[in-house]
Amino acid sequence: MTTHVKSDNLEIRGIPVEVVHKAIKNLHIGVHPPSGRVRVAAPLRLDNEAVRLAVVSRLGWIRRKQAEFERQERQSQREFVTGESHYFQGRRYRLKVVEYDGRPTVRLLNNRTIELRTRPGDNREAREAVMWHWYRGQLRDQLPPLLAKWERKAGVTVKDLRIRKMKTRWGSCNRDARRIWLNLELAKKPGSCLEYIMVHEMVHLKERAHNERFRTLMDQLLPQWRLHRDMLNQAPLAHAAWRY
Ligand SMILES: [Zn+2]
Repeated sequence: MTTHVKSDNLEIRGIPVEVVHKAIKNLHIGVHPPSGRVRVAAPLRLDNEAVRLAVVSRLGWIRRKQAEFERQERQSQREFVTGESHYFQGRRYRLKVVEYDGRPTVRLLNNRTIELRTRPGDNREAREAVMWHWYRGQLRDQLPPLLAKWERKAGVTVKDLRIRKMKTRWGSCNRDARRIWLNLELAKKPGSCLEYIMVHEMVHLKERAHNERFRTLMDQLLPQWRLHRDMLNQAPLAHAAWRY
C-alpha cells in the first residue's frame, strides 16, 4: 500500500504515467520493469502541465526503455527443461526434468538440483504449472511460524494471509479486512526477504503511509530492513525495481 503527498495518473501520448508530487528539487522520470511502468517524481511547485511537457521531451528514451524491458521479459521466459537455472529460497538450482507416467511432482534432489517429474509429452505450460504448484506449497509451509513470530512482535493480528502472483509488488494488504497478500515469487527469494515483506505489510496494518512513523516501526522491528529491500530490488530476476 502506497500513500504519497499527492499522486495523479495521467495519460501522455498513449502512455499511462503515475505522477507523485513531493518535496524534492528536481523532476525524475523512471521506467520500471517488468512492464515498463512510467513513474514521475515531481517537485510540488510543478503542475501536471509542466510534468506533461517534461515527459513528452523524454518520450524517445521512455519508449526505448520500455522496448528493452519487453525484450528482457521475453528472454527470461523459462522453458522448464533440464539444465536451466531456477531459484528456490534464495539459492540457484539446476533443473532436472524426468518424464514419469504418474502424478507430476517436484523435489529437491540435493542442494544443487531440483527434480521435476512430468508426464511424457507435457508441454512447457504444463511443466511450469507443476513448478508453480510446488513453489506455492513450499511458500505456504514457510508462513505459519513467521506469522506467529511477527504477530507477537508487532502486536498486530492478521486475519487472512494469502499468496498470489503479482506483477509489480512483493506484497499488499487490506487494512479493513486485515488481509495480507504475498507475491508467489517470494518462494524463490531468501527467507529473510520473505520475512521483510511480511513485516512491511504488517506494519501497514498500523500505518498506511511510507512515512516517518512507518520507518520508525520498521527500524524497531527489523533494523536490517533496508538491506532486505535492496536485495529484493537488485535480484537478478525479471523484477528489478519494485516499490519497496
Ligand atoms: Zn508499503
